[in-house]
Amino acid sequence: MRVLPKPELNAQTVFLACINKIRKKQLKENLESVCEIIMSDASTYDQYSLSSEWYLFDESDNVDNIVTQPEMEKVYTNRMAKKGAPGRKYYDEIKQSSPFNICPLCGHRTVEQVDHYLPKSKFPSLVVLPINLIPSCEKCNKIKLDDVPKNKEEQTLHPYYDNVIEHQWLFAEVNETSPASFRFYVRDVDEFDHSLNKRIHYHFKTLELNILYASQTGAFVSDITYRLSDLHEKGGIEEVRKYLQEEEETRRRCNINSWQRAMFQALSESDWFCDGGFNA
Ligand SMILES: [Zn+2]
Repeated sequence: MRVLPKPELNAQTVFLACINKIRKKQLKENLESVCEIIMSDASTYDQYSLSSEWYLFDESDNVDNIVTQPEMEKVYTNRMAKKGAPGRKYYDEIKQSSPFNICPLCGHRTVEQVDHYLPKSKFPSLVVLPINLIPSCEKCNKIKLDDVPKNKEEQTLHPYYDNVIEHQWLFAEVNETSPASFRFYVRDVDEFDHSLNKRIHYHFKTLELNILYASQTGAFVSDITYRLSDLHEKGGIEEVRKYLQEEEETRRRCNINSWQRAMFQALSESDWFCDGGFNA
């Protein structure tokens, strides 16, 4: 999980740009008439964000009994996400906001879409709200899809609001298998409150991050096997450990909770691995 700066796009500007070229007179009038409600929901959303309580938002199948959920969803799909659509520049700005185009939710795959933190199927007034839109890879978006948070603890992390990058919570342990394999897991952080710790666990489990990270490690370890054998021959277990610790430190500086950091940390702490397990 990576933190992103909150988009500074104005909610009203984006909504009005999206509906600007609608030709059906009645639909356009209806959408214009709910603009105020949409702005008020946007500020409620921002308010809930301060205490990480998005789950308090009420589900609905319409906006103010004037515009239906399918009509709002079309505003997003046809008038914001679609190529050449009037709101597409805002969609692109959000989609391109993640450094190196890495999905902030898994911290690994490439951004390909935009995810609605509160899903568009249940929260029609938020379909084009910039702070509800998060750049995402296809898999994370698909897993989250219509997931509605039920309580404070069962909410995935929100890259614009959750600052979880200052303490380590992602760890790994080495399985002494042939070749070495890994289990990634989350540990509570004393500095975080109870619900944030619970949410990190929930995020990690919901997005199946153990499976994703564990599947990356094989090729990575295989790539450094020659180097490790060489170091082991020259300086034994401690020389291997020193190298792995340096690799961990490099990754830690870059992203304290990257799977690469957790992997190198686990490797350097494993006597079995440092003393030849890399050849297993
Ligand atoms: Zn992802």
